[in-house]
Amino acid sequence: MHSEKPFPQPFIHLYKMFSEFYMYDVNTDRIIKLPENVFNYLSGDNNHPISESTLRYVRMLKDDGLLKSKTIKEILHPATDLLASYYETKLRRITLQLTQQCNMRCGYCIYSGNYEQREHGQKKMELKTALTALEYLLRHSSEAESLQLGFYGGEPLLEYELIKKCVEYMEDNAANRVITYHMTTNLTILNEDILHFCIQKNFEILVSFDGPQYIHDKHRKFVNGVGSFETVIRNLNQIKKINANYYKKNVSINIVLDPTNGFVEIDRYFNKNAIFKDISIMYSVIQDDYSNNKLEYADKFRTEYKYAIFKHILYKLDWLRDYEGSKLLEFHLQTIVNSREGKELGTRTEIPDAMQHSGICPPGLSRMLISVDGNMYPCERVSELSENSIIGNVYSGIDIKKAQGLMNLEIKKPEDCKTCWACTCCTACLVVLDSIDKVDHPNNKVESICASIRASTDDIFKDYCFLEKHDYFSKSHIV
Ligand code: SF4
Ligand code: SF4
Ligand code: SF4
Repeated sequence: MHSEKPFPQPFIHLYKMFSEFYMYDVNTDRIIKLPENVFNYLSGDNNHPISESTLRYVRMLKDDGLLKSKTIKEILHPATDLLASYYETKLRRITLQLTQQCNMRCGYCIYSGNYEQREHGQKKMELKTALTALEYLLRHSSEAESLQLGFYGGEPLLEYELIKKCVEYMEDNAANRVITYHMTTNLTILNEDILHFCIQKNFEILVSFDGPQYIHDKHRKFVNGVGSFETVIRNLNQIKKINANYYKKNVSINIVLDPTNGFVEIDRYFNKNAIFKDISIMYSVIQDDYSNNKLEYADKFRTEYKYAIFKHILYKLDWLRDYEGSKLLEFHLQTIVNSREGKELGTRTEIPDAMQHSGICPPGLSRMLISVDGNMYPCERVSELSENSIIGNVYSGIDIKKAQGLMNLEIKKPEDCKTCWACTCCTACLVVLDSIDKVDHPNNKVESICASIRASTDDIFKDYCFLEKHDYFSKSHIV
């Protein structure tokens, strides 16, 4: 029997799933199933004697290239030096914030007055700014196979005339390009003319809608305080009635979950109602980073959400007879599947000396937002309340140095990105990190964001291992 620790601290993450033991080896990006004695040894559990066979197994893992202690030396996104050339030819999607005005006053809207600095203003985009943005897209996208043009608000349909002019500009100036149009809308301003235009131009429409009437209407109200549920449902039915095929292919729903509610009721609502049967649904949780009203997650929400994921996984494994699965959690299942897809075993031998954690994108390259003033942001999900996130302007172009800086944000704290086991699967992007350099900001939540990312990555690994153990995947990613 031995008690020594014959190697420096390996860069790994250990986790248990029921009575099974796993290691995520960060350097090789591999998940390995371990015997219990080896798991205990690696986790520094001194309550068990260390046997020869344990040490032999550990040596075997090391001989196989695992258990290296190397961590990232320098935060440097691999695309940093190429960014300027990418911006010249590879832009492919911009979204125009046509207006900050809206016919609604949702409680969680950044313009609702519950957030710092902003209330619904009168600002809207000038035609000149919109056309300059489109011209910018056309000039900087010669290598993009296809282009996407999005419309965003406030409520973009308040600016229907401007939308038509933008589409006309693209048709006149880029007739030879493949262009997809999309719009995020509250779907309360719809008439036959708008609908036929959207169908004719094959618009993809993302509708903000939160579920059962009392839940939807709690936040999503018109200016006069009346809930918008009935109007949205009527308009969804109208689109489906006029062109069911278009509805199925082009309309999807975005739910903003209020974690002070439960999850099951919302989930059941979307499963049971025929109007949502064939369309895709995505969701996120209310962001309160800049809000004066902080949210407390209800225990009911956490418990129901976790249980619903478990049940959906059992359903996917064909273990539940009287359950039809969850439309909402198909979205989550895809995250689990994608977490290991494309990760070929043994292709990485060690983590690079210089890299950025995985969540950060080249800002604006794949889905730039142009605000009403013509400012450029990485995407529409980044808060425009954050001055840090402005990467340029349609009139002056992109500020390359600032964009490179955003790509290389470094978190300074005892366990930062360089030594964090989640660095190659982290989902923290500029959307959540846009205030990290304001360390004295009262809402700075980097510690809790990182803890929650690591916890959800750990959950995703466990769910992945469970699916894999029960032969859900055609190809194994665990050894
Ligand atoms: S519909 Fe959108 S822009 Fe309008 S108040 Fe609601 S969240 Fe804000
Ligand atoms: S969880 Fe936090 S510390 Fe870890 S890689 Fe992501 S951002 Fe960095
Ligand atoms: S959501 Fe995050 S990763 Fe995606 S484009 Fe926006 S900033 Fe980049």
